[in-house]
Amino acid sequence: MSPRKPSGLSESVLAATEEAFRAEATSQPVVRAMELYWGRLDALVATAVAKEPTPACGRGCGTCCHQPLALTLIELTSVAFRRDVLSTRGFEERVAEECEALTRWRQEGNVTPAEIAMQQYMERRPCIFLGCDDECLVYGSRPFQCRNAFAAELCRWDNLPLFGFGDLASLARRMRRWLHEHHGLERFDTPGLNTGEHTFFLPEGLAWLIEHPRRTELTDLFADPHAPPLSVDDTGALPIASP
Ligand code: SF4
Ligand code: SF4
Repeated sequence: MSPRKPSGLSESVLAATEEAFRAEATSQPVVRAMELYWGRLDALVATAVAKEPTPACGRGCGTCCHQPLALTLIELTSVAFRRDVLSTRGFEERVAEECEALTRWRQEGNVTPAEIAMQQYMERRPCIFLGCDDECLVYGSRPFQCRNAFAAELCRWDNLPLFGFGDLASLARRMRRWLHEHHGLERFDTPGLNTGEHTFFLPEGLAWLIEHPRRTELTDLFADPHAPPLSVDDTGALPIASP
């Protein structure tokens, strides 16, 4: 059975998200703009979904969460504040296991994201953030690829949905351009983190976070003269809740 892609955002919806993020990113600290952007994106996705057959997606449906999720550096920054999840017992070991799996699949000749995705599917390895009840532990902070995936029919293990890497690469390029234009951010290649097309797989991004617990690189990267300090409190809440 060949894999299939769930219905995704159309190019027109993606273009509308560009307009929304540009508006946010000009006036907001970068991470806050990301949070606002997610809200707008969710509304756009809801509008797009409403025009399609009723989606089968629902709470606790996590088949699509068994593939190597890729994300942008800004999204990793949002995830970095989820201390409630990142500090749970055994989390670092899980990250190491998933990094080892990625390395093994590559050594076995799986190079493209689709090839790597198939390996993870075949081993039925869940996303690090998938809870034991098949609910996402970081739902409010879940990256673009997760928000961009939905299906009209319930996905099955023999009829697998794949995340769209093309849309993600497109979004990453747009984000880079906006942040360069509006925040003067020149550098997206962070030492020790292979950003490729400015995206990377979640386990390897998390491994980088674990190795850089002070996250000074991210602080530098997203320095904004008008932003509150980019620090993490013990509740795991975003420190930029007030507009
Ligand atoms: S895309 Fe498929 S597996 Fe994912 S939530 Fe929707 S129906 Fe469930
Ligand atoms: S971040 Fe959440 S929604 Fe996205 S793949 Fe992981 S568990 Fe699923």
